[in-house]
Amino acid sequence: MTAPATPQELFALWADVRLQGLPPPALVRHPHVQSQLRRLHQSAPDLFQVEEVGRSVEGRPLHLVRVGSGPRHILLWSQMHGDEPTATTALLDLFEFLRLHRAHPRVARLLSALTLHAVPMLNPDGAERFQRRNAQGIDVNRDALALQTPEGRTLKALRDRLQPSLGFNLHNQSWRTAVGDGSRRPASISLLAPPFDASRSDNPGRVLAKKVCAVIRDALEPLAPGQIGRYDDSFETRAFGDNLVRWGTPTVLIETGPWPSAEPDEPLLRLNFVALVSALEALSTGAVEHANLERYESIPLNDSKGMLHLVIRGAHVFGEAGDAFLADVGVAAAQAVRTREGSASVVLSGSIEELGDLRVYGAVEEVDGTGLTAAPLPSRDVKVGDTLPPPPRSELSLRVGLPAELMLLRPVEPQGNYRVERILRYER
Ligand SMILES: [Zn+2]
Repeated sequence: MTAPATPQELFALWADVRLQGLPPPALVRHPHVQSQLRRLHQSAPDLFQVEEVGRSVEGRPLHLVRVGSGPRHILLWSQMHGDEPTATTALLDLFEFLRLHRAHPRVARLLSALTLHAVPMLNPDGAERFQRRNAQGIDVNRDALALQTPEGRTLKALRDRLQPSLGFNLHNQSWRTAVGDGSRRPASISLLAPPFDASRSDNPGRVLAKKVCAVIRDALEPLAPGQIGRYDDSFETRAFGDNLVRWGTPTVLIETGPWPSAEPDEPLLRLNFVALVSALEALSTGAVEHANLERYESIPLNDSKGMLHLVIRGAHVFGEAGDAFLADVGVAAAQAVRTREGSASVVLSGSIEELGDLRVYGAVEEVDGTGLTAAPLPSRDVKVGDTLPPPPRSELSLRVGLPAELMLLRPVEPQGNYRVERILRYER
């Protein structure tokens, strides 16, 4: 490796260090993580120590990876919410980067300045089901005070034992999240230095976390211009990020959001990788102390409902009653895992979320509906190019809440017939 100094170089480097042979992030399960950690330890036992620090409700070991030998202790954890997987793979890629390039002066400096402690999958039972909550049905991130989940108790015990000077709390946010500056851009990464009280005071720890966020913003902005947001900073009494600050460990929240393409996994993994490496490097060199706080404070706030996945602009729509009208049709979608005959796959699951004038919403995908009628897809036998006889009014009717299985129709002769121009189908 030549010294990767710029975000662009790190961005490119990821392709060389990313772990091969892993499924898409949403399909990474506890056994994948376990076997990768075993491999890391076996290939560099002096570099990676792996320790079981707890068990999930269903008895899955919670693994802590330790790498580096520096005086500054950093705790990172991912997938506290089981259906928020991006950073788990990003952490594995980060470890691989450290393993492959440990002799490089910059990496060697990082490993001698920092000791990283990472729990790549804090909620493996939730990950197994691809659900937010743990197997008790509890949101682990609302359990920092009650500590009724073994996963939450494990994180608290780690914090108390290691007394890390900084924590990285790694999540995914809703694909409906836009950058709230009126640009209608997706918030691909949102950052937060969480407060430790309701009046959002600062202390030296929180200032450090803000500076780390500023470093990350500056690293990511050239790679995702206008797509970096700031997460809502209201104090949540029960959340880990907020309470860790109170307990003495300031935290940096990184929320991975939507990416404006049909294949979001890879660009989002890259952004996570660049964010983590840039932040850790700035911590290892001390450059973080010189970061400009204004670069954090001026990150535009999230607009949590500003994005839709698909917007069909300006189509003819038959609503539940009345004549056809001109409207935009907005679909919200999220990744879901489907298992058929024992094999799992990731699908996009979507439904109609908004109907009407949707000019204020951003969209991952926009379709021009001019001159076309948007209608529910009556059956999976319908194909593009089919001509349909005049459908009953009820079969053309669209409303919010319907599954996003849609067709775009062009009126053709004889009057009342339609030709199917396009099919837009999301899994139920
Ligand atoms: Zn989360």
